[in-house]
Amino acid sequence: MHAEIIAIGSELLTPERTDTNSLWLTRKLNDIGIEVKLKTIVGDDVPRLEETIRDAVKRSDVVITTGGLGPTEDDLTRQVSAKALNRKLEYHIELEDHLRERFRGWGREMPEINKRQAYAIAGCEVLPNPNGSAVGMYLNDGNTHIAIFPGPPREMQPMFENFVFEKLKAASGGVSIFRRLLKVSGYGESALDEAIAPIYTKFKDVQTSILFNKSEIDVELALRAENKEEANRTLDELRSEIVAKLGVAVFSVQGETMEQVVGRLLREAGKTVSVAESCTGGLIGSRLTDVPGSSSYFIEGVVAYSNEAKVRTLNVPQPTLDEFGAVSAETAAAMAEGIRERAETDFAVSITGIAGPDGGSADKPVGLVYLGFADEAGTKTLKLNLPGDRSLIRWRASQAALDYLRRQLLKAT
Ligand code: AMP
Ligand code: MG
Repeated sequence: MHAEIIAIGSELLTPERTDTNSLWLTRKLNDIGIEVKLKTIVGDDVPRLEETIRDAVKRSDVVITTGGLGPTEDDLTRQVSAKALNRKLEYHIELEDHLRERFRGWGREMPEINKRQAYAIAGCEVLPNPNGSAVGMYLNDGNTHIAIFPGPPREMQPMFENFVFEKLKAASGGVSIFRRLLKVSGYGESALDEAIAPIYTKFKDVQTSILFNKSEIDVELALRAENKEEANRTLDELRSEIVAKLGVAVFSVQGETMEQVVGRLLREAGKTVSVAESCTGGLIGSRLTDVPGSSSYFIEGVVAYSNEAKVRTLNVPQPTLDEFGAVSAETAAAMAEGIRERAETDFAVSITGIAGPDGGSADKPVGLVYLGFADEAGTKTLKLNLPGDRSLIRWRASQAALDYLRRQLLKAT
């Protein structure tokens, strides 16, 4: 079976907005063995949209549109798709009642233009939208499956998952793609491949991809199969072999971010952390607090950018700064100890470095970063030479700090 996706909305033809719906849908369709042959972006334009939908229904087994279901004049999908399919629009009183209820729930009267959203194509299945005002529609026209979704991803995605996925899966004959994702830190791309190629090449049916991004490597395993149990068994076996080979370098097999993993480990251990940051400017604290519930383990973060701030806020001794400089193992150690004492946490992490593009020298080049780590056993430091531009160096430094903390937590427990 093959599909085409039509993204509707003039804003998607400007540089300001990108059509991401089709990417998400393509992944889902591929997962059930449906190939996407064509993607179109159409502005809010009646003749072009009508022609696009007519052609799509003629040539494709599955046609999915997103967008253009809003209540305003420029939202045309409802009328135009009905016309292209030679069907009428039918008024649904229960949809209007439901819309009025929604507005009343916000303490407002429903504007009359929203009445448009109470119309659906004759003979379609109306797909409820708990996250917005526009319902979706699903219908079969001849042998073609047609799904019409609202534009906002948070409305479109659950609608696809809850009402369309199973129908298309059944129609496509039950072949699925099963996946596993392993996230790895502390390896370069080629070193990682060298380590695991002897393992994954044994699994001929599994497609293994090694994708480097910013500061970690994703190892994606994909297997196209009919039998779910068999596929899961094969993938789990391959995954275990890779984990056994790479050990703690694998930080997640559930798709978690580094900060989520660190948060989980801190919570499980019942430990607290504080951070002292210079060149990362609060990035570590920001990442740690991105995780819901982080208040139970993250106590304090200090951005001590200048030397004076390092002395004043973190008690870094002035002679340490004078003798070794702000970017040094000694300063990193003093920063970690300073924040740990101040915040009274189990662990403290610090970062000081040169993010560039200026400020480097022969013996302290751009990308030189020192990481400090303090706990009750004492203080340790790590020297890093990070490649990349300013934002990458900052990101990689934050990742190194979180990963260091993670590895310490794994040792402690
Ligand atoms: P609409 O259903 O046309 O009123 O779209 C409402 C909003 O959904 C737009 O302003 C976009 O923010 C978003 N949206 C629409 N189409 C897409 C798409 N193909 N990809 C991502 N976002 C979209
Ligand atoms: Mg629109």
